[in-house]
Amino acid sequence: MLLNRPYSVILAVTWIAAVCAMASSAAFAKPSTEFSAFIEGLWPDAKVAGVSRKTFDTAFAGVEPDLTIPDLDLPGRPKIDNSGQAEFTKTAVDYLSKSYLQGLAVQGRKFLAEHKAALERIEGLTGVDRYTLVAIWGRETAYGTYHPPNDAIRMLATLAYTGKRKDRFREELIAALVMLQQGIPRSDMKSSWAGAVGLTQAMPTEYLKFAIDGDGDGKIDIWRSVADALAFTAKQLEGKGWVRGARWGYEVVAPPHADCSLEGPPDARPIGDWVRMGFKKASGNPFTKAELASDAYLMMPAGAYGPAFLAAQNFRVIRLYNTSDLYALFVGNLGDRIRGGGEFVTAWKSFSQPKTRTVEGVQSRLKQLGYPMDKIDGKIGSNTRKQIGLYEKANGLSIDCWPSERVLAHAESQAAGR
Ligand code: CA
Repeated sequence: MLLNRPYSVILAVTWIAAVCAMASSAAFAKPSTEFSAFIEGLWPDAKVAGVSRKTFDTAFAGVEPDLTIPDLDLPGRPKIDNSGQAEFTKTAVDYLSKSYLQGLAVQGRKFLAEHKAALERIEGLTGVDRYTLVAIWGRETAYGTYHPPNDAIRMLATLAYTGKRKDRFREELIAALVMLQQGIPRSDMKSSWAGAVGLTQAMPTEYLKFAIDGDGDGKIDIWRSVADALAFTAKQLEGKGWVRGARWGYEVVAPPHADCSLEGPPDARPIGDWVRMGFKKASGNPFTKAELASDAYLMMPAGAYGPAFLAAQNFRVIRLYNTSDLYALFVGNLGDRIRGGGEFVTAWKSFSQPKTRTVEGVQSRLKQLGYPMDKIDGKIGSNTRKQIGLYEKANGLSIDCWPSERVLAHAESQAAGR
């Protein structure tokens, strides 16, 4: 899970080049004795978790913090637009690139046939369908052809030492040490900058909770055994509440009187209610009885500038694997394409992504004006889109549920007049 996938490599490289020079400056370099003391401070917790002193010392031999990675809390570092995370820096039309999805789907069908027996076994065991599993593998490491370049111990140690979410990464670091204690080779601990490991890029705490032997050879190898990696992913999804036999969601067409401000989990309702409101499957096919009874929420990742979806429980589960609407939609759609469908009916419009400070500006102005904006983070999530839609509706503006200079200017003048 998380962040630095092949698709975002170019961004990340550009970004790293930009900060490398600064990282070497004294502005946020900390003495290595402080880092060593931090590492030594981990020992009691590692010991309690069952890690031997030998494993501990071997794990950290020669490890220095990497101050060039994103999401660090370093004084003097300039603010970077959403840390180079493709889920938030790419527009939907770029992130859901048709040619990229199609290419992955063709390969995915090949792997589906190649690993048929294992996938059937995993489906039977967990209820998670083979298409979603292969799609996650495709999204995360382009079917194992992308090899995350970083040392997971170094990344996790850096993030636990000086990241914005130190406690979380400290827990992941201890879990990674436990993995080494279990016999995972030190050289296998390669990761994205956020410390995710294996063919399907999952965090060490998830590994300790959910990894299983998928091919029955008596070992767990999420780096070389596709069956082990996909069984692990299936156990994760099952553990997060996957509904057997159900879809992630449906592209829909909204009735003329409905708009994007209906978006978001708080407005979830049975699909039957959406149908009574005039929503239809974009494919034109009817919903089944079981589908009509299941809950879903409206999700429009590009606001009014792209397709609308009813997101069901399994969409929420994929989103727990990696918290991004575009990520979950990518995986759901790639799974559909591997099955042989998946074309979007409504086109994604091309537009440039608003700047983080524009998004933050809109978020903070709306909050000031009394709209429930829990996070001012510059990311265009469901609630941000919804609140913009409600604001536009209340103020007689055209409703697009999208942060723009136009909405920002309007909200600024409203806020100033109060
Ligand atoms: Ca195995």
